[in-house]
Amino acid sequence: MADAHPLHAAVAAWYASNARVLPWRGIADPYAILVSEVMLQQTQVERVIPKYHAFLDAFPTLQALANAQPADVIRLWAGMGYNGRAVRLHKLAKAVVEHHGGELPRTAADLRKLPGIGPYTAAAVASFAFGEPIAILDTNIYRVLSRAVHGVDAPSREAIHPLADALLPKPGSPITPADWHQALMDVGATLCTARQPRCMLCPLRPHCTAAPHLQSGSDPVLAEASVPYSPRQSRFQGSARYFRGRIVDHLREQPDTGVEESTLEAVLHEAETASGAPCPLALLDLLAALERDGLIRRDSGRVRLP
Ligand code: SF4
Repeated sequence: MADAHPLHAAVAAWYASNARVLPWRGIADPYAILVSEVMLQQTQVERVIPKYHAFLDAFPTLQALANAQPADVIRLWAGMGYNGRAVRLHKLAKAVVEHHGGELPRTAADLRKLPGIGPYTAAAVASFAFGEPIAILDTNIYRVLSRAVHGVDAPSREAIHPLADALLPKPGSPITPADWHQALMDVGATLCTARQPRCMLCPLRPHCTAAPHLQSGSDPVLAEASVPYSPRQSRFQGSARYFRGRIVDHLREQPDTGVEESTLEAVLHEAETASGAPCPLALLDLLAALERDGLIRRDSGRVRLP
């Protein structure tokens, strides 16, 4: 794409009237933006919104989160899945308080030096909270840019990075880099979906290589068959992650003193019955993995949240 100005202008105009209203947009609190980004990594927006509010009510500042007991943070994470994120967020808050005076670093490069923060989250926080002009490549943005430029044959995410950098709006562009990314996320979430893109409504359509092959959303069967983005059917129920989650769920409801380790056999058995699949790991292996990830503590035959 030699001149990105028409593309930026089209996306800016679309975003001005179609942006999703989300509680972490239009705010200046880097900590709240960090919380939202960590939550959004593996959880859908609709589930994140109430948890985001509850989390910030309980831990309104980075300092408050750093001072919290890990068990309380894990309890508040209930229903979000991927509980390890709660532990990592808590550790990150402690590291920022300890080494940065409670202030998040302002650049993606410095944010990356913190424990438990990956390249996407670092770029998102640097861009949305501090205005750093840096490319962000989440799943939605990858899908949109990949289709727009490469058509229906998706290259690897690494191969899209130079493109994402090249398309980053420059000073004087009709859209800021932060809004460009927010807009592409919205296009990916609402129009350029994995299974049924709605090209007729999309601001990128005049510039999009894939659009002619996707029937402009009028033929979802063909669209679905054409797109190499169908989400893989992950068998969550019956996976080790599923059983780990059931044990953490059980411990969330127990007093701080926890439970006898042997009582968790019954929890595991109940989860196996509910999922219709045997747990792939023995209880002791599950507990060892949970302990390694900082999600439980074991002491004298008892197990509890940390
Ligand atoms: S025109 Fe269609 S394929 Fe292209 S970015 Fe928009 S929704 Fe996706």
